[in-house]
Amino acid sequence: MARFALQQLRAPLRTVTLLLLQSLAACSQESKTDPASDAKPKAAQKQAVPVEIWKEFSGSRAYSEVEKQVAFGPRPAGSQALAEARAHLTSALRANGWTVEPQAFVAQTPHGALQMINLLARFGGPAAAQTTTQKVIVGSHYDTKSFSTISFVGANDGASSTGALLELSRVLALDPALAAQIELVFFDGEEALQQFTETDGLYGSRHYAAQLRDSGRAAQFKFAVVWDMIGDRNLTVTLPLDSPKDLTQGLLSSAEALQRRGAFRIFDRPMLDDHVPLNLIAHIPAIDIIDFEYDAWHTADDTLTQVSADSLQTIGAITLHFLKKSLP
Ligand SMILES: [Zn+2]
Repeated sequence: MARFALQQLRAPLRTVTLLLLQSLAACSQESKTDPASDAKPKAAQKQAVPVEIWKEFSGSRAYSEVEKQVAFGPRPAGSQALAEARAHLTSALRANGWTVEPQAFVAQTPHGALQMINLLARFGGPAAAQTTTQKVIVGSHYDTKSFSTISFVGANDGASSTGALLELSRVLALDPALAAQIELVFFDGEEALQQFTETDGLYGSRHYAAQLRDSGRAAQFKFAVVWDMIGDRNLTVTLPLDSPKDLTQGLLSSAEALQRRGAFRIFDRPMLDDHVPLNLIAHIPAIDIIDFEYDAWHTADDTLTQVSADSLQTIGAITLHFLKKSLP
């Protein structure tokens, strides 16, 4: 995400010791709640559709996918590292039972024409016939902002939501009827090459939204959820001021139901992120789940030490709860 400077919201720098303690605390909480450690018989796990599917989302599995994204290094649009990250996402989605459509396009950027590729994933049935069942989009950008002066790996800004979206694909596959109603989208080129303007940034979501509009598919979608910067160990979701009201209420109800309402607040401003083209170009109500109170935003400090499995688990579970309640 790349929009508003937030100097006034920056918290005091935390010490290395505190980070270590928080890290240990997050790890131990995670191991207690991780459904992967559940000792149910294997057959039961495979066959039954979980009634409370949000409990299947594993923060630790999501975290290990975040680690994999970060290990590819800085991943700006058009880079070899992003191509490698994309290849991993594609094979992992397929392994989880999803059909992947690479949506390639040429973006006109301040640095010239650049090839970009969104990844669209759909579930169930033959590929040719499976573009009509989706009612909700869940998306994340998977590129990172390009810097010439620092090595920017975007552990929170890029990798956190991408890793969590991959974990979401694993969990949704446990409920095929629900999965068939979801379109997962990994947006390329969210970050501006120079700075955000109407024509620099949000390349992938602008292209995807225009395709939905032009193909007529936009009409089949009830709403969209965009994840961005959801891994901060100090989780405070700052829902943009202009979020669609019913989506805000539904999401907060799910947060309340899972006892994490305190992690959410309404931001004092709108946000320019991948939900905007979905709202304005495709006319699909879209909400941005983003934690913009983040000291390390667009700095070399946006590394894995900032990200916790517990935060990923919180957002994954709340989103799944909201999806399940919205798509009975
Ligand atoms: Zn960013």
